[in-house]
Amino acid sequence: MSESKDFLRVKVEEDLESGKYTAVHTRFPPEPNGFPHIGHAKSICINFGIARDYHGRCNLRMDDTNPTTEDIRYVEALKDAVEWLGFEWGDQVYYTSDYFPKLYDCAVELIQMGKAYVDSLNEEEIREYRGTITEPGRRSKYADRSVEENLDLFERMKNGEFQEGEHVLRAKIDMSAANMKMRDPLLYRIRHAHHYRAGDAWHVYPMYDFAHCLSDYIEGITHSFCTLEFENNRAIYDWILDTLGLTPHRPYQHEFARLGINYTVMSKRKLLELVNEGKVSGWDDPRMPTIAGYRRRGYTPESIINFCDSIGIAKANSMVDVSQLEFCIRDDLNLKVPRVLAVFDPLKVTIENYEGMEEIDAPYYPHDVPKEGSRLIPFSREIYIERDDFSENPPKGYYRLTPEQPVRLRHGYIIACKEVIKDADGNITEIKAEYYPESKSGSDTSGIKVKSAIQWVSAEHAKKVEIRLYDRLFKVEAPEGLEDLNPDSLHIIKDALIEPAVITDQLDVRFQFERHGYFYADPIDYTDENPVFNKIVGLKDSWTKKSKTEDSEPKSERKPQAKKVQIDGEVAPMSEEEQALFDKYTGELGLNNEVANTLARDEYLSSFYEEALLTLHSPISLANLITNEVARELKEKQADELKFNAKQIAELVKMVDEETISTKIAKQVFEEMAQSGDNPSQIVEAKGLVQISDPAKILPIIDEVMANNPDNVAKYRAGNTKLFGFFVGQVLKATGGKANPKVVNELVTEKLK
Ligand code: ATP
Ligand code: MG
Repeated sequence: MSESKDFLRVKVEEDLESGKYTAVHTRFPPEPNGFPHIGHAKSICINFGIARDYHGRCNLRMDDTNPTTEDIRYVEALKDAVEWLGFEWGDQVYYTSDYFPKLYDCAVELIQMGKAYVDSLNEEEIREYRGTITEPGRRSKYADRSVEENLDLFERMKNGEFQEGEHVLRAKIDMSAANMKMRDPLLYRIRHAHHYRAGDAWHVYPMYDFAHCLSDYIEGITHSFCTLEFENNRAIYDWILDTLGLTPHRPYQHEFARLGINYTVMSKRKLLELVNEGKVSGWDDPRMPTIAGYRRRGYTPESIINFCDSIGIAKANSMVDVSQLEFCIRDDLNLKVPRVLAVFDPLKVTIENYEGMEEIDAPYYPHDVPKEGSRLIPFSREIYIERDDFSENPPKGYYRLTPEQPVRLRHGYIIACKEVIKDADGNITEIKAEYYPESKSGSDTSGIKVKSAIQWVSAEHAKKVEIRLYDRLFKVEAPEGLEDLNPDSLHIIKDALIEPAVITDQLDVRFQFERHGYFYADPIDYTDENPVFNKIVGLKDSWTKKSKTEDSEPKSERKPQAKKVQIDGEVAPMSEEEQALFDKYTGELGLNNEVANTLARDEYLSSFYEEALLTLHSPISLANLITNEVARELKEKQADELKFNAKQIAELVKMVDEETISTKIAKQVFEEMAQSGDNPSQIVEAKGLVQISDPAKILPIIDEVMANNPDNVAKYRAGNTKLFGFFVGQVLKATGGKANPKVVNELVTEKLK
């Protein structure tokens, strides 16, 4: 649960404390007329999340009162989505259609009370009689029908004796009410349609306003959360329950803001149109904002849940920038997935002074990711590099391979260009190069300075894969319809090359292809013959640079930079000063290119970094924290709104370096600092976050985890070594992230032998 409570949770607590309810009972009530989208994810997180936080219950209810649009397929998609997000709905799924008989009885009761009548105006007349916001409505002459006549007509409506539209059942409330919804709202209409569950039993179907409050009541719901557009319907909700005298334990409706995300549409009707018009491959097309789409694209449930958490719950509708969702998935994958080499647009390089082949041992994870593992990358005389990573006439600030400038092959040697081979049209077809034998990464004694490292694959050993790159589905921020579709939202590369370990090790289904982004083995189209990878998200956010001077623009008006900056490793040239910083960071201070690049290109971040370095000489740890956490804060705040300073960041990093706290806890401490501005040592002290490194304290926890998971222990010992992470994760979790991961790793290895 988040630290500061949202207004819905405040309300729930109030109601529990006052004794209004003894337990909270919510529901998620989708209509099964389409696949759920990310807006539904928000509603799922709210309803199931609140029930979980207060030890209550949440029903999954299909709000299936409209026979013409609903389908069992959508019911399945909704169940899948809730399950995938990690929530449980208990023994059964609920269906409004199961309540049709009860709802019918309630309608009859209203008629008997003189509170409902059968109206026989046509649709147009009904609209006309309703009046306007400034003028009261008029009541239909049919409102004077006797109770007996109404009962008779309503029953015959149910039995199918009338045409659609011939009659409707309306509540008798107030035709001059200021809230237009209260001007005798419709309760039932005639539909001669087959219902996917109720079959042909019914010829009348209840309207949302009638069915929803009663379904909530029938299920014993306490808090009925819905989106803001239902604010005016609340009066009907209350009127129906109160008029029927369904007190005291009745539900109440509370509204929250609908989630909207830019560059996409978010209504099932519009999404259905995309599917039906063949603009996407289906509801689960990776470009769709559906949960099935995100799932197929490679988003993790954690990232979606973190996103829903991070946007909070508000009372006013607003548009969330899609980059915030992208941030959440990037943040999640950064700590989870192996890094590998892939080349999308291959250019052959022949290393003329190299013979034979060797295997280079390269770690799957960078040092700031607390995971271990490595693979062997085959290296040989013929390799492929990215076509873009060579330039004959480099623009200023180009720091990859040129005829004059050597470059490092990631994890491997430094190479220099000797000759450029071209075809008859002048296209470059091959580079003849030479390598420096003493320059191997990790044991480089060559003394040669390079400005960057590029990805590569060995020609003979590389595997061919299909890559699907996705861009925004719509080209405008607030799309209206199909005319706003981005024609280039899908780009397929058939012949990308990848290092063999990706295929043969089968280590994971998600990867970071270095300098390209995060990728996911397509769960449907991937085969051994044709491996297909979806791009989940790029590596860098296109967040706007916020130096101290330039930023006078209000936050909300900042536009994300053109996407070009972030994709596929292509970057704008650096200024001379930026280049000098970059060289210093990668050279003297030993930062990796990615981190150095982020710092060097941001005036504020680099000066913050330099200042922190004055307090603590721990260049790599400082750079990591600053490019991740501090940069993220700056995304949301102006520089002068930050509550912490460079000295405090240095103090925090020092505690990590000295192993007083774990990197995981450091993030938590940072969050606190960002909120309160307190010193990190104070926070660690006050919250008891000191890292546990003492084996005597950790061993009993490992024992317990093993005792609780005998099956996994057996599987591990039988050879399923992938389960190692499971055990480490469980132990870390049991200590609230306080255990020293290194020590846990060692002890778990020992214990599982
Ligand atoms: P759509 O217009 O996209 O079809 P809907 O509101 O008609 O959406 P329902 O299936 O009726 O979809 O919604 C189920 C629940 O999810 C409702 O409680 C609704 O308020 C909530 N919900 C739907 N869209 C959003 C959204 N964008 N943000 C938050 N909650 C949403
Ligand atoms: Mg709807």
